[in-house]
Amino acid sequence: MIREAHAIPPDARAVLTIDLSALRANWRALNSASGSAECAGVIKADAYGLGIEELARALAAEGCRTFFVATLTEARTIRAANPGANIFVLDGLLPGAAPFYTGFDLCPCLSSLDEVREWAAWCDASGRRLRAALHLDTGMHRLGLSRTEVEQLAGPDRGLFEKFDLALVMSHLACADVPSHPMNRAQLELFQAMRARLPAAPASLANSGGVFLGPDYHFDLVRPGIALYGGRALEGRPNPMRWVVRLQARILQVRHVAAGESIGYGATFQATRDSRVATLACGYADGFLRALSSPTGHPGPVGHIGTHPVPVVGRVSMDLITVDVSDVPQREACRGAWVEVLGARTTIDDLTDRAGTIGYELLTRLGRRVHRVYAESSS
Ligand SMILES: *Cc1c(COP(=O)(O)O)cnc(C)c1O
Repeated sequence: MIREAHAIPPDARAVLTIDLSALRANWRALNSASGSAECAGVIKADAYGLGIEELARALAAEGCRTFFVATLTEARTIRAANPGANIFVLDGLLPGAAPFYTGFDLCPCLSSLDEVREWAAWCDASGRRLRAALHLDTGMHRLGLSRTEVEQLAGPDRGLFEKFDLALVMSHLACADVPSHPMNRAQLELFQAMRARLPAAPASLANSGGVFLGPDYHFDLVRPGIALYGGRALEGRPNPMRWVVRLQARILQVRHVAAGESIGYGATFQATRDSRVATLACGYADGFLRALSSPTGHPGPVGHIGTHPVPVVGRVSMDLITVDVSDVPQREACRGAWVEVLGARTTIDDLTDRAGTIGYELLTRLGRRVHRVYAESSS
């Protein structure tokens, strides 16, 4: 059972409930799965679309001391409310931006020799040995120091380490969601070899999937994101995390559609029987992806009114979805009633498998016009 923190205002058309107790339970589970390694929280992109300030506060209250964000703006958003936290910025060091990090006591994840040199020069100029992480590229080829750059730092440029405080050495796994993928072991070995060339510092390799790859991958700090929010960390395995998000939409109206009549854009769905169809106040602009439209001639993903399943029929449009409520008693499927379209029964993973995307994308696309409720569950 969810206890809602605030009453839902009458003008709310769709409501996203974020269960903070489940979030904290997921953090505790990941923390214990990581043995003695510290468990950080990855809260980039507005905490995967769920609200960076609220989620950082909830995680910090549970004991999470280290956060990873993508951008300086995200870091500044949470700094004031989390004065003691370690905040790492994954973007690295934007040219000329060093003072912004220092002003908010933020740690850049330095990703190239240029960035390391710029940070060292800034430390020199400001007369302080400031903290920074080194991001090593072990196979993703997006961000991170190459092997050649690490050799440069290990040899000719070793003096740079006197200028700044090496807070963390990290890398990122490309295939952690597929435990049997040979890339995992290859990246692990390369990470160990590259790290050995650098001064001793705490190390971090695992994202959510990496936590489940076992102790070899944990090092000193793990960096889960998606699993905190209830998304699947490993492909093709049961998801052990608690669900965190529920999306409900209001019924705007219920209408009769005769057998043979069609519903929605493109007339892609024809009723095969005389039906009752409810139009819900939620569409792709709210984050219910258009790819979740019912495939031509078939019902789509299933929402729920109470315990009654209600399949999506027809295309998802910008502001509206239509669901078949023919089998639901009329007093439950009525104007103003709530339909759960995402939650414990129809999960993020169910929807994104259907839509050909991943939980990360669904969460970060949840619309800003959806009313948000931060709730505590009693279990
Ligand atoms: C996003 C990200 C994470 C978290 O990944 P999940 O798969 O969501 O657990 C960890 N580390 C880095 C560098 C990232 O960019």
